[in-house]
Amino acid sequence: MSDTKGSFFSMWYPEPSHLCNEESYCLVCRPGGDVLASSPDFQGFPELTEPSKWFPEWQRLQIGTLDDKPVMLISAPVDALAPQGYVWVNIRPLLGGLNPGKLEALCRASMLSSWDSDNRFCGRCGTLTVQDLKESARTCPSCGYRSYPRVSPAMIVRITNGPKILLAHNRRFPRGVYSCVAGYVESGETLEQTVLREIKEEVGLDAASPRYLSSQSWPFPHSLMLGFETTASGEPEPDGDEITDAGWYPADNLPHIPRHGTIARWLIDDWLKKLGLIM
Ligand SMILES: [Zn+2]
Repeated sequence: MSDTKGSFFSMWYPEPSHLCNEESYCLVCRPGGDVLASSPDFQGFPELTEPSKWFPEWQRLQIGTLDDKPVMLISAPVDALAPQGYVWVNIRPLLGGLNPGKLEALCRASMLSSWDSDNRFCGRCGTLTVQDLKESARTCPSCGYRSYPRVSPAMIVRITNGPKILLAHNRRFPRGVYSCVAGYVESGETLEQTVLREIKEEVGLDAASPRYLSSQSWPFPHSLMLGFETTASGEPEPDGDEITDAGWYPADNLPHIPRHGTIARWLIDDWLKKLGLIM
């Protein structure tokens, strides 16, 4: 998560000047984290050259540059069918395998695609909105309301107690997978308050003085995960609702933990590195 390499520059271009061709990267996304690929086994970064011809009515945006090439987003509706010879692939399993620049471009494209699709109509008066060409906003021509791409902060926290780490199973996780405590920031909260509240709510423990470590864009559909660490002690009491099991685990006897490419895994691996157990 602390790797800052990569050459994606997140920008908003007032008037997209590039087509989807060999001079640009073209990402076709639809809400839900799907990207158009030429194969279901797709593991990389799509470079499509035809889609602007296929679907001229889909919104086309220029969202940044990657290796000095424009990155184009074609934002498809949620129910869009893949053209013949192409498939929709969900980007979630791809997050661990892309270099930072491509990952950032893909996360940005996916989030903007969801925002574009979800804000076609004014939330205040119901009128069809239009894309603002000067900034990343959709504007209502009737009442003037402006909708900006939303980022919803969430926190995830590594809780340790000497040589042990607290890991919890959320009922939404795959069977047997344990991870760090996490949750969304509530309106009016500071990040630190969120960390302490979620720990209390989910595993019944009191913690103090959480420290920020790193963050990860999490475009499902528009989160930003902020990683913290803190310490606590005592026997965890799972809330029984979201968290069905939780416990303290020594480094040499961890349960199944999240896969690489997630900030949850990074937090756990970072702890193991500090203990000198992995490189
Ligand atoms: Zn309006």
